[in-house]
Formats: sequence, structure tokens, C-alpha cells
Amino acid sequence: MDVRVGDVIQTKKPHPCGASSFHVLRVGADFRIRCTKCGREVMLARSKIEKNIKKIVRDGETL
Ligand SMILES: [Zn+2]
Repeated sequence: MDVRVGDVIQTKKPHPCGASSFHVLRVGADFRIRCTKCGREVMLARSKIEKNIKKIVRDGETL
């Protein structure tokens, strides 16, 4: 799956705050993402994130 820094991902599983979209801050074996609502940052393994992605938004366009 092609996720890049700067993308916004929509996830199947929401953050505890209720939002389900995250800014992608870092990609690699582990991803760092930031919740668009509460601003918390989370580190997650790529494999976990890929299973949880519903869609990717890049430059305002849904991929
Ligand atoms: Zn949140």
C-alpha cells in the first residue's frame, strides 16, 4: 500500500477520541500518525496500519 508522509488516512478503527482520520508524519517499518481531532501522535507497525486503512487522502483527493 502506497502511503506517504503528508497523506491523511481514514481508518476503520477510530481513535479513542472518536476521530478516524490521521495525518501521516513518518513512514517505514513503523508509522507515526497524528489524530486530526485531538492531535495525539501514535506509533504503529506498518502491518497493523495497512489492515486498518479505509482510504487515503492526498492533496484533497481520495485515492
Ligand atoms: Zn484523537
